Amino acid sequence: MKEIEKGIIVFDNPYGGSNITTLTTSEGTLIIDSSLFPSKAAEVSLYIKRLLRSEIVWITNTHYHPDHTFGNSGIKAQLLTSEKTEKYFSIMNRRYIDQVIEKEAALEEENIKVVHPALTFKKEYTLTLDNINVEFEVVGGHTPDSTIIRIPERKVIIVGDLLVCEYHPEIVSDSNLDRWIKVLKGLKREKAKWYVTGHGKVCNRLEIDRMISYLQKSIALREYMSSADEIVETLGQDPNFRDRKMQSLLVENIRVLMETGKQIS
Ligand SMILES: [Zn+2]
Repeated sequence: MKEIEKGIIVFDNPYGGSNITTLTTSEGTLIIDSSLFPSKAAEVSLYIKRLLRSEIVWITNTHYHPDHTFGNSGIKAQLLTSEKTEKYFSIMNRRYIDQVIEKEAALEEENIKVVHPALTFKKEYTLTLDNINVEFEVVGGHTPDSTIIRIPERKVIIVGDLLVCEYHPEIVSDSNLDRWIKVLKGLKREKAKWYVTGHGKVCNRLEIDRMISYLQKSIALREYMSSADEIVETLGQDPNFRDRKMQSLLVENIRVLMETGKQIS
């Protein structure tokens, strides 16, 4: 974990799991994303309460994916999300949860419960804690509900899975790559000091170019090559692909791109 700016701590995950970010003020703490594990989220929550002596007043999520939200039930605080994110939560039934547990054995020990928000917003929302504005905006791209969270006073933007450092990003069937690239270009222009990624290290704007190039190259090769193996092999020669961890995600990304065809770009 690292305090990147006054009151903002990123509990990063050394194994590629999702990052948890906290903003602590004199009016309490906001937790952004909760990881896959309620027990881990509970640990972060205990740290805030015991060591920082702060109450957790809100929890929020950058998007609905389980690796960012299943930890929600480990934190006793009100949840704040977009209406779109809540729509995804409302269709997460037992079958959905069991399917996630099946892929991640460590989850069997956890009691996963989907938490529903106490407050939702449509596209934008501003939360003020001790005169610090926290601005939420639903931007889409990685998923239709992808939300960025700006803390302008500290020049920090929490971007979730729109930006991933060191690891491969996750392109999913409901990703919109054109939208994703457009959002990244806008984020770069904002010149924040820190962009808090969904996975991997917190980074600066240089990393955004690498992400844009990753997406653009994946789309371009899909147009010219007919086999997924061929694309994976070609991309593997580019350091921007070769040097990222979790190669299995690259294979999966290309498979998704091939399957969904033009409709998601
Ligand atoms: Zn995600």
